Amino acid sequence: MAHPAPSARAQVRRAPNRADYSPATLHAILDEGIVAHVGFTADGFPAVVPTGYARDGEHLLLHGSTASRLMRVAATQPVCVTVTLLDGLVLARSAFNHSMNYRSAVVYGQGRVLEGDEKRAAMRTFMEKLLPGRWDAARPPDAKEMLGTMVVALPLSEASCKVRAGPPLDEERDMEFACWAGVVPLRTVPDPPVQDPKQAPMPVPAEVASWRPGRRQGHIPSVG
Ligand SMILES: Cc1cc2nc3c(=O)[nH]c(=O)nc-3n(C[C@H](O)[C@H](O)[C@H](O)COP(=O)(O)OP(=O)(O)OC[C@H]3O[C@@H](n4cnc5c(N)ncnc54)[C@H](O)[C@@H]3O)c2cc1C
Repeated sequence: MAHPAPSARAQVRRAPNRADYSPATLHAILDEGIVAHVGFTADGFPAVVPTGYARDGEHLLLHGSTASRLMRVAATQPVCVTVTLLDGLVLARSAFNHSMNYRSAVVYGQGRVLEGDEKRAAMRTFMEKLLPGRWDAARPPDAKEMLGTMVVALPLSEASCKVRAGPPLDEERDMEFACWAGVVPLRTVPDPPVQDPKQAPMPVPAEVASWRPGRRQGHIPSVG
């Protein structure tokens, strides 16, 4: 499907054959990822801070303490957010051609602080993105907790994705070199859940036992 050309800033330069600007790819990467890195300039110096996030339609949601620098910055200045899914180690015959298989996204934008119903809906989206069904299972945030939390919605209008997949790309002169070559696939797989020892034993809920990255279910309200 046709989609707008990337801005000059969001244009992948090296290995442009690996670039992908389709919303479908962007959404898939953001929905599978769990951790984002937010880059910004503070006191004249670059900083990159990791944080959780959620996608809601054409917005990326960030949330955190109203006291955190990250949230204050995301609410008031343009930021650059990256999400990386590491799919494999690419082991080539030559040291030079070693690489990684990955799907990554870079998003540029200026956030908007959400309030009232939008803020509460976004908080729900956060929980449901992490673990579908969790919002209804957990105690909802009280007024003080809501007040101490800031939620920012960043538009997904300026973004790029880059995807590398497949075997190593060795040069012709190295093809007979006797060094094992191939890919070590990597993925995020949960171990069995461990219950809080401060709690009386209870069965592990089905949605907890079956957790997988990127598995979203149910209706999630949209940010306007
Ligand atoms: C897991 C992983 C490992 C990597 N390892 C290396 C490495 O060891 N050495 C190396 O040179 N490169 C590596 N890369 C690629 C790296 O992210 C850049 O793509 C690369 O530095 C080329 O950038 P550039 O100079 O073409 O573009 P830049 O000028 O840096 O970027 C221009 C624009 O292209 C887009 N863009 C660039 N890279 C990406 C990306 N990865 N995902 C989404 N959008 C992107 C952004 O919108 C950016 O604003 C790795 C990427 C990943 C995800």
